[in-house]
Order: sequence, then C-alpha cells, then structure tokens
Amino acid sequence: MGFLSVLSMAHKLIKERVSPGDLVVDATCGNGVDTLMLAELTGPRGCVYAFDIQEQALERTRDRLAAAFGDDSAAESPSHIEGNGSAAKQKRKPEVHLVLDSHEAMANHIPVGSHGRAAAVMFNLGYLPGADQTVITKPETTIAALDSAVRLLRIGGIITVVLYPGHSGGDTETREVEQWASSLSVQDCQSVIYRMAQRADAPYLIAIEKKVHLAP
Ligand code: SAM
Repeated sequence: MGFLSVLSMAHKLIKERVSPGDLVVDATCGNGVDTLMLAELTGPRGCVYAFDIQEQALERTRDRLAAAFGDDSAAESPSHIEGNGSAAKQKRKPEVHLVLDSHEAMANHIPVGSHGRAAAVMFNLGYLPGADQTVITKPETTIAALDSAVRLLRIGGIITVVLYPGHSGGDTETREVEQWASSLSVQDCQSVIYRMAQRADAPYLIAIEKKVHLAP
C-alpha cells in the first residue's frame, strides 16, 4: 500500500484542521493546487490569501480556480470578489485573494483583525515547475514568512512546509527551516517531521501546530 506522499500528507493534515468559513493562507501558490484545495475546504464563507512573486504563478492559480468555480473566482488583492453571477454560482464562490508579493509581507495584506485567526498556512518551497528554476524561495525570506505565519495562526492552527533538500539551494534552505522549527518553544508550538529515512535528498514535510497565543 505504501505511505502517503509528502504532498498528500500535507493535504491530509490541512483537511483535518480546516473547516468551512476559515481564513487560510497559501504562502507559495505556484500552480494553484494547494490554493484550490484551501478554497474548496473553506467554501463561500471562508477566505484564502495566496502569495507568489511570479505573475505566471498567479495566472496558473487563477486559471485553476476558474476551471473549478467559474471565471471570477479570484481577485487581485486588495479588492474583494464582486458578485456578478447567478445566485447559485455566487453561493459556491470562495473569496480568494491572489497577491503578487513575497510571503514575508503576508501580514500587510491580511486585515489586522484577522491576525491570530488563520486556521492554516501552507508553504511548498522551491521553484515553479516548468518555469525559471532560478526563481526559488530563499532561506531569509522563508524564515521571515514562517515567523509571520506563526503570528497569524489561531490556537490549533497549522503550518505545513514542503521542503526540497535535493534542489539547488534547497539544502541550505531545508537546514535553516529545520533549525527554525526545532527552535520553537514547546509551550507555543509543536513541530513534527514526515520524511523518508533512507533518502536524504527526498522532499519532506515539516508541520507546526500552534498551542498558545504569541505576542503580535
Ligand atoms: N503550492 C504550489 C502548488 O500547489 O502548485 C507549488 C509551489 S512551487 C513548488 C514554489 C513557488 O514559490 C513558486 O511558484 C515560486 O514562484 C514561489 N516563490 C518563490 N519565492 C517566493 C516568495 N518569496 N514569496 C512567495 N512565493 C515565492
């Protein structure tokens, strides 16, 4: 039967914790697979913020959402989706903000009243498949974004980080993220690692669950 892949395990952990109406964040929207899952889980009463530094990634995500929900299902931040469809279509439409910005700025795009309320923040590090492989996540901004994500989370909320130690530059980033996750106070957060023991270069998952409120 085999164990779940790293991406499937990330999705499983998210699905167990995210409910309709929740606020969630995709910190690296890429092809939009994670954004779509988050939009489906949170539904029309929920809210998804999806970040990427490449317009190409936002376009791919927009197309994926449009295929699932209809053409006007994603708005560029900061505007919200305006209804122009039938009542039935409007009902199932999720509120998704596609933001062309680096993820360490995520708190600037999310209303202050929502800080400390996010149910989940997903990171899938590295590069956009099929695009320029030199445009990748970088340790410094990734760690700053992770710090921001912890502050945005509600108690019981989760961060998932998919890491690629085998990619060029990915080994350093992986080490730094793992150090960051292991340095979190056990009173504040619980960090776990899901990885294949026999292959040091295989992608793996770090998940962090928030246990108490942190100062903003
Ligand atoms: N989660 C995506 C999906 O479901 O298809 C895959 C993400 S892909 C592996 C990594 C993405 O991170 C790329 O699209 C890349 O442009 C984006 N990225 C790189 N640096 C970033 C940054 N500082 N802030 C936000 N996104 C970034």
